[in-house]
Amino acid sequence: MLKDSILVLNCGSSSIKFSIFQCYTNKKFLSGIIESIGSNESNAKWITNNKKKYCKYFKKNNSYKSLLKFLFRKIIFKEIKISKSLIGIGHRIVHGGTKIKKAIFLNKKNIHYINKISHFAPLHNPINLLGINISIQELPNLSNFNIGVFDTSFHQTIQKESYLYAIPYKMYSLYNIRRYGAHGISHKYIVSKSSEILNKSIKKLNIISCHLGNGASVTAIANGISIDTSMGLTPLEGLVMGTRSGDIDPSIIFFMFNKLKMNIKEIENTLINKSGLLGINEKESDCRKIINAYSEDKKFELSINIFCRRLAKYISSYMCLMKEKLDGLIFTGGIGENSCLIRSNTIFRLLNLGFKLDDKKNKNLKKKINYFINAKNSIPILVIKTEEELEIAREAWSLIYANRKK
Ligand code: ADP
Repeated sequence: MLKDSILVLNCGSSSIKFSIFQCYTNKKFLSGIIESIGSNESNAKWITNNKKKYCKYFKKNNSYKSLLKFLFRKIIFKEIKISKSLIGIGHRIVHGGTKIKKAIFLNKKNIHYINKISHFAPLHNPINLLGINISIQELPNLSNFNIGVFDTSFHQTIQKESYLYAIPYKMYSLYNIRRYGAHGISHKYIVSKSSEILNKSIKKLNIISCHLGNGASVTAIANGISIDTSMGLTPLEGLVMGTRSGDIDPSIIFFMFNKLKMNIKEIENTLINKSGLLGINEKESDCRKIINAYSEDKKFELSINIFCRRLAKYISSYMCLMKEKLDGLIFTGGIGENSCLIRSNTIFRLLNLGFKLDDKKNKNLKKKINYFINAKNSIPILVIKTEEELEIAREAWSLIYANRKK
């Protein structure tokens, strides 16, 4: 019988990832995804810990709200009769602004604050709030046990010289314009897992963590804490991503506005949804598909080279921030975990800094068994599968547990 479990909700712009973890054992009881939300192809897939798989295709374009209700009523309450074992719900929230430094209970005041800073993550925070509201409605007996775990919190340790932009200071002092970073939940999980694998305490751990998925970011971590990260005020800055530009000269925006007569919405849409890998190769944002069709189109190769070159530049710039020897360079996220080509294309650019791959290990990696892909005499290079949902469950559980002890 399942006891004391946490439901984790990760509401993204076009998908809802969900899972249920048993608190004491960290065992995953259920995991699933509702994807392609907003299209006629939306579908839900979920799997229980006894490997029973379920799938449902929706024939019409259902609203985000109705799909969240489907999740509670048809999956959590009905198919999986475990809602009685739940003691809390952990919500992934992208932006916590200046104030939120750790996981928090989502009371009225905190929900109001998350709403107030939604302009920093307009694609994410409003959807995260919808997830919270539906959870409160569907599980009213747990309304005091909704917990927010924030992607920005892990980066609250970065110092002013890293988080301030070189623009008039009042933009920061009056309007809180600064670097906040993102993917903090994943980078934090990577810290704890690397500490275990490298057998070094978190407080002494020095790593560079590369989370490469549809969104991508790199974080420099010294003595277990984030000291710099590539995403900025919003998740648009930094690396080349699937459809996001990452770093560009801000003057390009003036050019689009003044010369091309694009309005601000069009420019925003171009930089968020039409740029990155897709923008360069003009066909595809999905890294796996690009790599599979690599030989067919020179632009596919070019987009991958630009992606890896930018990543290598970030890694090398973070090397100079490290005061002590680097314990490891970590690849994670869908691309980082699965693409040996992206890893080799990046690492060959970093030979001078002491990174060298073992090609066989890189190609024939057996995840969960082998983590290391570096050659002898190289700085350790590791591939680690991220577990953001587990990290959210652990943080939610710690908060509930600490609250019980009071
Ligand atoms: P997110 O959580 O940001 O939506 P993921 O971490 O799931 O993204 O990563 C999705 C990306 O990983 C996609 O670009 C996908 O093509 C890429 N990916 C998955 N498997 C592979 C693979 N074998 N080779 C290259 N890219 C891959």
